[in-house]
Amino acid sequence: MDCFLCRKHAGETAQPPGGYIYEDEYWLVCHAPAEKSLLGTLIIESRRHFLDFADAEEDELVRYGPLLKNVYRALKSLIGAARVYQVVFVEGAPHFHAWLVPRASEETARGVSLLTRDAACSQAEAEKLADALRSALATT
Ligand SMILES: [Zn+2]
Repeated sequence: MDCFLCRKHAGETAQPPGGYIYEDEYWLVCHAPAEKSLLGTLIIESRRHFLDFADAEEDELVRYGPLLKNVYRALKSLIGAARVYQVVFVEGAPHFHAWLVPRASEETARGVSLLTRDAACSQAEAEKLADALRSALATT
């Protein structure tokens, strides 16, 4: 298996800060690596190996919308995100994963300039937020 995300799901690579936040039969959610992301940057990964929505199955698509709603709500309530950007490149690994990047209300950067800026948060902060998000998503 030469896919980074498939290896990650199998526990063969570094695990996300605080472990996975949410898992169901189709989707997994985790915090992005702390050393290269704003606090609250999440990644939604498909459990199955496929590239993008063109190859998604009906059940995967049906579950994706409500999951997004719950994750957006959790990010807004827990860190006060004014906006949540959703970005899908699938260039680093050809396995579906969407980046969710929160934009704080006091943040002056917008859009691509926020996304392309160097960012980092502490591992401890990311782990703490992962725990809070796990609790929030378990009750939705
Ligand atoms: Zn894969």
